[in-house]
Parts: sequence; C-alpha cells; structure tokens
Amino acid sequence: MNDLLSVEKRLEFLRTQIRHYEYAYYVESNSEISDKEFDLLLEELIELERVHPKLVTEDSPTQRVGGIAASFETITHRVPMMSIENSYTFSEISNWLTRCEKQLHKSPFPVVAELKIDGVSGSFGYNNGKLINAATRGDGKTGDLITANARAIKSLPLSIASKHDMDIRGEIYTPRSVLIKLNSEREKDELEPFKNCRNLTSGTVKSLDPSVTAKRRLGVMVYGIAQGKDLGFDRHSEVMSFLSNQGFKVNHAWKICQNESEIKDFIDDIAAKIDSFDFDTDGVVIKIDDFSKQEELGYTAKAPRWVIAYKYPQKRAITKLKSVEWQVGRQQITPVAILDPVELGGTTVSRASLHNIDQIKEKDIRTGDFVVVEKAGYIIPYIVESLPEKRIGRESIIEIPQHCPSCQLPVSIKKSEDDGSTQIYCGNSSCKGVISRKILHFINQMEIENFGPQLIEKLLERKCVQKTEDILFLNELILSGVERIGSKSAQKLVENIKKAAYKPLFRVISALGIPNVGIVISESIAKAFNQSFDSFLNSDEESLIKIEGIQKTVAGSILSYLKDEENITFLNALKDWWKGPSETIGTITVNNDFFKNKIFVITGEASLPRKEIEEIIKKNGGSVKSSVTAKTDYLVIGSNEPETYNSSKKTKALEHKVDIIDEHKILLMSEQ
Ligand SMILES: [Zn+2]
Repeated sequence: MNDLLSVEKRLEFLRTQIRHYEYAYYVESNSEISDKEFDLLLEELIELERVHPKLVTEDSPTQRVGGIAASFETITHRVPMMSIENSYTFSEISNWLTRCEKQLHKSPFPVVAELKIDGVSGSFGYNNGKLINAATRGDGKTGDLITANARAIKSLPLSIASKHDMDIRGEIYTPRSVLIKLNSEREKDELEPFKNCRNLTSGTVKSLDPSVTAKRRLGVMVYGIAQGKDLGFDRHSEVMSFLSNQGFKVNHAWKICQNESEIKDFIDDIAAKIDSFDFDTDGVVIKIDDFSKQEELGYTAKAPRWVIAYKYPQKRAITKLKSVEWQVGRQQITPVAILDPVELGGTTVSRASLHNIDQIKEKDIRTGDFVVVEKAGYIIPYIVESLPEKRIGRESIIEIPQHCPSCQLPVSIKKSEDDGSTQIYCGNSSCKGVISRKILHFINQMEIENFGPQLIEKLLERKCVQKTEDILFLNELILSGVERIGSKSAQKLVENIKKAAYKPLFRVISALGIPNVGIVISESIAKAFNQSFDSFLNSDEESLIKIEGIQKTVAGSILSYLKDEENITFLNALKDWWKGPSETIGTITVNNDFFKNKIFVITGEASLPRKEIEEIIKKNGGSVKSSVTAKTDYLVIGSNEPETYNSSKKTKALEHKVDIIDEHKILLMSEQ
C-alpha cells in the first residue's frame, strides 16, 4: 500500500510540474526548462501511468490527445453566444458612446478595451474544476462539440481551482508562425496556401483527429464567462483577472478606459503593434465594464448594446494587371499575374498568384483589369477580385495556353481529383521546365545546400544532368566542366550531396514529389513503415490507408507513382544512394543541422530578448558573433522590424551574400 501511495505522490508531483511548465510555456511564453528536461518529466509520467493504468486521471497532461472521432455532435449553448456590432471608423465608436451615455442617464461608465483575436469563437464548459466540454459558436444557439480538439490545446487548462459550473468564452487561434511554416511547406508542395490564420483555425478545429490540433499548436485566449454575473462578479474586468488567476491565457493587452480619448489611444497603440503579434488581431472590442450597467442597456435583436467592435482596415492594394505569365511547375502550369508594382504591407508587389484558370473565369479577371491584391499568410500576394467598373474596353479575356512555355509542346488538361479544378500540365517527360522543378523540389526537401535554380539550369543545359537521379551521382569532375564553379565549391557541393544521404526517410519520401504527399504525410508514412524504405516501396493500399492523413485518393497516387516505370529507375537509384540516419532515429533532428557549426549575427529589435535568441542558437550548436563577415552564415533580423528595415549589418550581409532570415525562422527551426 505504501508503495502505491508513493507512486500516487510521484504522479501528482509530475503532473503538477508538467502543468506548471506547460502554463509557463503556452500561456506566459516562458521556457523555464529545456525541452529535454521537460520530455524527461513527461516520459516518466507516461511510463508510471502505463504501469499503473488505474491511476490515470482525465486531467493528466498525458490525456490531451485522444482518438479519432467519426463526426461531431452538436450542443445547445446554455447561454447563447451573441454576435457583436462592428464599426469601421472612430466616429461610430463616438456615436455608440453617446448612445450609451444617454441611456445610462449620464452616469459615468468605464469600459474595457481588449484585442479582438481573429480566430474561431468557442465556449468551454467547466464543472467541479474540470473541463467537461467545448463547442464552437455555430449559429450562436447551437455549435459543434469539439471537446477532444480543445483538450489538445495546451494553453487551455484541463483542470482549474474554481469548482463553479460555468461556460468560459474565448477565441481559438493559430499562431502566425505556424501558418507561415505550413504555407512554406505547402508552397514547396505546390499546394494552395492557407489564406489566413482564421481559415486554418476553423479547418483545424473541425478536424476529426485531435493530433492535428496538437501539431498545429492552436491556442485559446479567453475573454469572458457566460454566467459571470450569476457567479457574483460585478464587473467584466474582475472576470478577466479571475480567468487569468485560474491559469487561462488572457490577452494581456486589455485596459480599463475612462473616456473617449483613452479608447482612441488604446486603438492607436494596438494599430502600431499589430504586426508584431504572433496571432491575428482584426480589431478592438469595447465593453461596458459594469454588469449592472450592461443589463440596463440590454440587447437589440442581433447584438448586445453594451459592446462594440472596432475593426482595423484590411491590408489590400489596387493595381493594374499587366499580363499573365504561365509558369511551369512540377505538376502543373499555373498562371501568375504580372502587376504594375504596388506597395503592400511593407514590400513592393509586382507578381501575384492567380491560382488556376477556373478562378480566373469565375472571378472574371481580364488582362488590363484593375485588381485587388492581398497577401495570403502575410507573404504570398494573390488576386482577390477584379474591378469591372473600372474597365475601359481594352481588357482581354485570359485563355488557356496552347503550348508549354518551356518545351513548346501542346499542353494537356485534366480535372484535379482533389477539388475538381482544371489542371493544365506538360505531359512531355523530357520537358526541361518540369525536370528542373522536380530537381529543385528534391534538393529543397533533402536540404542540399548551395544548390540553386541557376546551377540546375546550367547542368541541364550541358546535359550533365537529365533526370533527378543524376544529381545523386554528381562528382567534381562533372562539375568542373560547368562555368563559374570553382574546385572548392564543387568539392563542397559533392560533400553536401553525400551528407544528404544520411537524412531521415521522411525527407526522401517527400522529396519524391508524389502529389498530395508533403512533409507531414511523409512523416506518418516513415513512422508507419518503421523507417524502412523497402517496406514503403512494397506497400499496398491496405497498409497505406491505415496511416493517419492518407485517404484512398492519396494512397492511389502513391501506388501509381511507385508503379511507374520511369519512377522505378529513380527509386532504385535512390535506394542505392540513401544511407539513412547513422544514429538512432529520433536523436538527430533536422533542426540541429540548421544551427550546427553555423555563425549567426543578430540585428534590429526582436520580440524576444536578444539573450534568449542567442541561447536558442547556442543550445542547438550554433554560435553568435557581433559583426557580419564573409564567414557569417545567417543574419537574423528581429521580428519587430519592418520589411524595409535597414542597418549597416544588413548592407554587409547583402554584400557578402549572407542569408538573411527573421527571428521567426530561428524559433521554427529550433522546435522539434
Ligand atoms: Zn514542357
């Protein structure tokens, strides 16, 4: 019995510790211990719970990610989730204040101004100190029950000290850094990027597999309790402090404002900082603080009278579509808009995505049109719509190209199995355009350094390389024939190619460029086949569709890829070349390679203290120097600086062709 008692004590100790560190990390953005130390605690807890399954509690940190669900149930909200009246100018706020003042007979009424996070609204039910359910807003009256997904959100506590029966309201969101990372992977895989954090969040929340939610690092910021007044609170600000004390993530940028000018200052202050947040904010919410005054004001048919949202203007630009360039990709030939250069979100945009011919037709976009441009995920500009009212009669309809822009042979057309869209592609298996994109994809996925598009062009031109597999066997002799490659860089390149042979299996699988098989699915495949390339090559439909994230269509495209004769030659060459990680899988991470023996220089104002960034770099095997020289590998620019930021270090970096990255990249690469 004593033993069991000490086990229970140890379990409780471990859970308390892990909860504490999760809170520090996910709510307060503080890493108090290293990932390794944290993993040790978690592993010990998992092991103890495995030996003593009866002692597993529902709120144990190990119980966040549950199994895959078949569908979502719906739930009726005990208190409806109302919508909020939006305003787009400050004079609307001013009018709202006058209305409130009149209705409240001129008695003073402080308001709380807080950030409006752009995500998916949710309601989180707690009873007796435990998270019992979670639901989306839905139509305000009923929503989808998403408890399993909510449990996987680490900033949402599974248990709290308060025993009240209550529904906590908050916004589920995706960090920008996650969106940027996912989009850069999707771009490499020639998939359409997620347009913004909100779309990504709503897709993730509706995923039936909670491990997807866990991977995408969703967060929740809470802003209220549906039954606040019934629980004895007098003011909204008291609720905010209470929620914070209970361990919820509450956005710290909230403020009690006494008058109109304080509200205006808050709105302006946030506008100045908005780009530095790692989450999307589309405005500010202003609420009357006092619950009794809220009640006095009451509701309209649509929304409460005691709250209003101020929405910031969207970052869009209008410019002229000069022409359309058809770009040869690995799988498709896609339209790119060539624009009259225009300023948008700190950069000059002169090219933008037009997605596909269906969207061009649907949106009736014509050459010569004035178009609205936006940036998807802050990076990739795309055309939102055309402005037909600005036409002068000289615009022309955009047609499907007849010939491949690279090899000039007629194009082929098919319907995408994914979404039914029209896909234009070059069916010529020796098309240089297609081959160079395939090679580039392979090089990117295998992380072979110093190997860019220009070099690929040169190698193809000289017929040193004709297929992707030829890359694997490049040697210094072949490279010595290529202009402007010195013997030193040839040597380095051959070394880099050799080094890539020790990359983990998932890199090899994603480097194949099978449609719909990106990094994430490749990781699942490598895991399911126990890191064996042979097992993957011999896979069948049955074994593939068992793997997370693989539906029948994906399994089909994998199998048809593996059966293709040309691919078989490539796969055999790859099998001979690939060595696999020399140490146990799991101990080497790709991320370490990014930092290992690299020299970093940091400049500009960062969102993290300089010291912390330095520590991340050093911890992962890199070093930090104070000035940029030819030996510097990366110049890191703080994320609080605009894209137009300039400094002597940046000038030097450009001079020495040093890679310039931003702080987010450091954070992304340092993560598992
Ligand atoms: Zn072609």
